[in-house]
Amino acid sequence: MIKQAPLVMIPGPTPVAESIRQAMAIQTYGHTYSGFVAIYKECLTGLKQIFQADHIIVTGGAGTLAMEMGLLNTVRAGEAVLVVSHGVFGDRFGLIAKALGIHAEVLTCPAGQVVPLTLIEEKLQAKNYKAIIVTHVDTSTGAMAGIRAIGQLAHKFNTLYIVDGVCASAAVPEPMRDFGIDVIVTTCQKAFGTPPGLTMVAFSERALQRREELGNVPGYYSDWKNWLPIMENPGLYFSTPPVNLIVALQEAVKIVLAEGLEERYSRHNRIAASIRAGLAAIGLELATAQEALAPTLSVIKYPEGVEDTAFRANMEQYDVFVAGGIGALKGKAFRIGHMGNICINEIVLTLYAIERSLCAGGYPVIPGAAVGEAWKTWQCY
Ligand SMILES: *Cc1c(COP(=O)(O)O)cnc(C)c1O
Repeated sequence: MIKQAPLVMIPGPTPVAESIRQAMAIQTYGHTYSGFVAIYKECLTGLKQIFQADHIIVTGGAGTLAMEMGLLNTVRAGEAVLVVSHGVFGDRFGLIAKALGIHAEVLTCPAGQVVPLTLIEEKLQAKNYKAIIVTHVDTSTGAMAGIRAIGQLAHKFNTLYIVDGVCASAAVPEPMRDFGIDVIVTTCQKAFGTPPGLTMVAFSERALQRREELGNVPGYYSDWKNWLPIMENPGLYFSTPPVNLIVALQEAVKIVLAEGLEERYSRHNRIAASIRAGLAAIGLELATAQEALAPTLSVIKYPEGVEDTAFRANMEQYDVFVAGGIGALKGKAFRIGHMGNICINEIVLTLYAIERSLCAGGYPVIPGAAVGEAWKTWQCY
């Protein structure tokens, strides 16, 4: 039998829709070709609409570069920021700040929970931070922050508000104007569903003003001011953008807008409810507190006796690729990404592979128990 690549059910990259693959298979355009300039512009316009952004920069890189660009253009070395961390990616923001000579105070909490709002308010009350930074969905714990409520606090204390949207953008609402967000740092291989390779930073007029006040920043490729003229007119040259990926992203943006934002967000909730009903039906438990559950991924505790490496190797045998735990949950949990351009079919296949891999690992389940519950939930949602 011909072996296909396994279905990628990890928290990014996510499965790439056929029309996106076809779009990026074009013969590479010259990066200043008028046809490409039009595609780039259309893509940026669509993204601004999705995020309610005043400005946006999209170019080659990854989510981590976006995080660095978000901070480097808004905070000076020696200044203080408050990082609300729910796991590995929140902690990463602390490390980026350190690398830039910025003092980061990192608020943490037990894995799978979120930092209480009252604690964040106390901190903001006690000290004047240049920015508050929050990971919308931390991909290591599956915890989702209340970015709207935190935005109200940021507004109350007049602090610049930076959100890491990487594991949430295009799956969970992130309206910048409505929520008072100044900077969203994100990328394309998670809920946008394109192959990896792009960095995306959306920002407000206020954030741009901050950039202006800083004068020189310790970066060149990362400096917003080098990119903004290109975003106005992509026919100009600063550094060659990944042409085929931009074409792919434009197709992804078209898919998002054609589906409709509300529809897309509610599909993610429906998918999450379905997969979780399936997992619960075979006795699996999540590592994330109920009130903090993100719709984009599930972090599942291993039942007694099921071993991480063997389980995931088995999953691959059944053509589904899931991720291991990271950070505090390494070896103790596995992670399923369920975001982007997927539907119930992928969920059913994933649960089928989980059922079989658990059986192979000595944790018996009734064949179809998880699968059946998932599609019942999908139907009745
Ligand atoms: C994946 C992820 C990142 C890092 O993105 P890369 O593209 O791997 O650099 C940052 N933050 C969150 C929340 C993520 O899920």
